[in-house]
Order: sequence, then C-alpha cells, then structure tokens
Amino acid sequence: MSPPHKPIVYIVSAPSGSGKSTLVKVLLEMTPRLDFSISYTTRSPRGSEQNGKHYYFVSREEFEHMIRADEFLEYASVYGLNYYGTARRFLREAEQKGHDLLLDIDVQGAAQIKQKLPDAISIFVLPPDRKTLEWRLRKRGEDPDETIDRRLDAARREIENYDKYDYILINDKLEESSDSLRAIVESERLRQSGRPFSPEEKAIVDLADQDRLASARHRVLPILASFRASPP
Ligand code: 5GP
Repeated sequence: MSPPHKPIVYIVSAPSGSGKSTLVKVLLEMTPRLDFSISYTTRSPRGSEQNGKHYYFVSREEFEHMIRADEFLEYASVYGLNYYGTARRFLREAEQKGHDLLLDIDVQGAAQIKQKLPDAISIFVLPPDRKTLEWRLRKRGEDPDETIDRRLDAARREIENYDKYDYILINDKLEESSDSLRAIVESERLRQSGRPFSPEEKAIVDLADQDRLASARHRVLPILASFRASPP
C-alpha cells in the first residue's frame, strides 16, 4: 500500500484590498488537486458571498461551541470584531483525497498554523504601496472612511510581520502575480516529488524563488516605509 498523501498546506495572507481574493480564485481554478479551506466566521455575509462557498457564516454561540469541541486547527478574532477559524476537517479531507490545501487566513492564524504544521508554505501578498491600497479600498466602495482608515492601519501592522512568511508576492500587475503564485504552488509540489526537474520545471522553480523572503526583502522595505510615513 502506498503511504497516505501528506497534503501540502499553503497559507495566503494579505492586508484587505491587496487583491488576494482574485489571486486565490484564479489559482484555485487553474490548479488541480488544490482544495480551499472554507473558514467559519461570525461576521455577516457581504455582497454576493454565499454560505458554504466563501465562508460558513455561524453565530457566536455556534463558533464558541466549535472551539470547545476542538474543531479548529486555528482561530482568531480579526480586527477584534469577529471570529474566524479553520476547521480541522478540511485537512483530513484533503489527505483522504490526495489533495493539497489552501488557507486564506490572517497573520495571527498563519502564525498558529506554522507552529502546528511547520512544513506549511506561507505566502504574503502585498500591495505595491500605501497609496495604491488606499485607492483600491476606496474604489471598491464597500467601507465608510472610518473603516478604510482602520484597514490601512491594520495593513501597516500586518506588513510589519512580512518576514514570518516564506514567500512575498507584491501584487502590482494581476497577471504577473497570478503566474508567480501558481509557480510557488507548483514549485513546492515539484520539490516534494524529490525527482530531478525538467528544464520547464526548473524555470517554474526559478520563478518561484524570486519571491522567496530572502530575495524579496529589498522590495518590501520601500513598501513598508510608505506605510510608516503615513500614520493614521
Ligand atoms: P474578510 O472579513 O475581509 O473576509 O476577512 C478578514 C480577514 O480574516 C482576512 O485577513 C482573512 O484572511 C482572515 N480570515 C479569513 N478566514 C480566516 C480563518 O479561518 N482564520 C483566520 N485566522 N483568519 C481568517
């Protein structure tokens, strides 16, 4: 019997408005055997969000019951307002299906997962600078000014944690970022396979390596500076 598949767990975190949702959506559409961990949350659905697709929307009581029943791999209170959590069952299901798993979670959740699953691959998506993030948040027209200010402040604090991540993706041009994200996922699968790479595979690994923390650090510092220079 072949050994059970050990899923590769990919964590994607980003400040709100970084374009993460679109990147994740494209990634999931284009990547076979990659499951999305649908989080549980106590916040209300926004816009066209559907229960069981984007999130499981539950009451605070239901969430707290799940905490007591140890059903979460990690959970956090995001913006101090609502609970968000990753259910353990998605990891079990991915294992059974021979799939990998993608978690779209915040910085606190990423730290908890890294402690429990040190082999998880973490990816931080960044906007090119503060101005661009502010513009994107205003353009989507979902939030009042006060919330936008809070999101910008939260973004600065999240970005300060960039060096806890394995990969840093600066989302300037969607198509390029999308290619880079797919390269990261693919290159980690290739590495896990343990076999020699073809020239095409080597090119994928090289593309992914450009976004490794050590290579990306010098590109993050000016972004961080743009956030630090504009306190709320
Ligand atoms: P939103 O309310 O905009 O959908 O998400 C707010 C933040 O919560 C995002 O940073 C998102 O990544 C994070 N988030 C979503 N699901 C989870 C989860 O299961 N655990 C944690 N820790 N954060 C989550």
